[in-house]
Amino acid sequence: MPAQARRFVLPRFALPRAARVGIATAVAGASFVLPLVTTMSGQAAAAPAVRVATAGYVAPLAKPVLGEAYGVAGSMWASGHHTGQDFVCSTGTPVRAVANGVVVQAGNGGAYGNQVEIKLADGKYAQYAHLSLIGVKVGQSVTAGQQLGRSGATGNVTGPHLHFEIRTGPNYGSDINPVTYLRAHGVAL
Ligand SMILES: [Zn+2]
Repeated sequence: MPAQARRFVLPRFALPRAARVGIATAVAGASFVLPLVTTMSGQAAAAPAVRVATAGYVAPLAKPVLGEAYGVAGSMWASGHHTGQDFVCSTGTPVRAVANGVVVQAGNGGAYGNQVEIKLADGKYAQYAHLSLIGVKVGQSVTAGQQLGRSGATGNVTGPHLHFEIRTGPNYGSDINPVTYLRAHGVAL
């Protein structure tokens, strides 16, 4: 069950109200899940500080603007294609964990400049490159939306931006399309 949901058991007398809130198929005595942000009385709970998608994911920047796309072919990349998705931003923009995870890299990554990589709960890896500032340490647990550092122009770049990868393993070369991945987890990009 998602952390943001609570399980309710409907008493028989609650059925008319349940019907009014749209649970037309509810059965007396059956349990079901309601989002925490709504209550049986229809009152909204306090809004969270970070808007997290239903699957517990956020974009790597608060205001994500897509730059150079994943997969674009070019001789400037060692693999022959762009292994991440670039996000347009100025130096100093906070970058954040896209989901819960554990930091597995935090330091100089050569052409990547200052980089942070986190292992996500689903076993995938998220990598953030060209940072001006690293704010986490290897082994540290992070939650979706938590700041990892700040964007920059370190490493092999022509200007400040965030280079963001999703990988199936911890190392270079196991990249998958990060935009497809984030959208599949409910992130609007
Ligand atoms: Zn890039």
